[in-house]
Amino acid sequence: MQIDETRKKADEAISRVVQPVRLERKSTFQFRCHPGVPCFTRCCRNMDIILTPYDIIRIKRRLGLTSDIFLSLYTQAEMLAEARIPVVRLTMLEEEGGRCPFVSAEGCQIYTDRPVCCRYYPIGMANLIQKEKKSGEEEEFFFLVKEDHCKGFEEQTVWTVDSWRADQEADLYDSMNRGWMELILRKKSFGEHTEMPEKARALFFMVTTNMEKFRSYVFESRFLDTYDVPEETLKKILEDDAELMTFGFEYLKSAIFGAETPVLSIRKEVLEREVNRIRKARKQLRQPQKGRPATV
Ligand code: SF4
Ligand code: SF4
Repeated sequence: MQIDETRKKADEAISRVVQPVRLERKSTFQFRCHPGVPCFTRCCRNMDIILTPYDIIRIKRRLGLTSDIFLSLYTQAEMLAEARIPVVRLTMLEEEGGRCPFVSAEGCQIYTDRPVCCRYYPIGMANLIQKEKKSGEEEEFFFLVKEDHCKGFEEQTVWTVDSWRADQEADLYDSMNRGWMELILRKKSFGEHTEMPEKARALFFMVTTNMEKFRSYVFESRFLDTYDVPEETLKKILEDDAELMTFGFEYLKSAIFGAETPVLSIRKEVLEREVNRIRKARKQLRQPQKGRPATV
């Protein structure tokens, strides 16, 4: 209930500051953010920041923390509206005027690893909505988020959307998060009232937020007895969190949404065992029971 009210207020605030102008990649805007602007760091409070899986990997590595500790110190879990998938939100420090835990007088303390949402600002991207309307379409567009307190718009530097994205490393973040975005779209296509079963939700949460737990799940449970994973892939995901994350997106695509993926397959013997189990169960169902005719 509290989350819904907070979201409603956030939506109202967004609609007040979003410029109703559609920007394309070559569209220009004037903006510069630097320590000399009178509003420096003013925007780093009361921010509505959902962390992407790649954000989590970058920030926890930057802080030298495990995912478990990072998540419990800096985030809160919630269900993403509409898609109804579990995500984490960066916790703002309410007792300190809602400031971001990473802001200091000198600026962002994790600047080179800041979340993608902070990289895009003051640009917003709306490709999700377009994809939702016509499945498979890659159309995207951008818009300006222009808040009164932001004096960056009075600076003289001119950007195109593309040059801004390149400057902010947005392409790298977008390509890293693409698999996650696709999972969200898949889930959305089932409608917002379709809830994931609890087990699937827990699996989704682990794979998209906690690389240490997911790595243990792959290498220390019966995962590799069930799935055939190429040796080359195993070598990569053993050490590299970003590789493991990308592998995880493919695994979720298969395990939760039943889609095919080139990076793993159920072992033949496991599949055969399962088919035999189902056949046996069906056969038992067909056995005539006392006083009842056999099922067809
Ligand atoms: S992560 Fe950095 S840029 Fe983003 S809100 Fe916090 S201090 Fe500001
Ligand atoms: S309000 Fe605008 S100009 Fe000021 S620090 Fe934030 S982004 Fe930069």
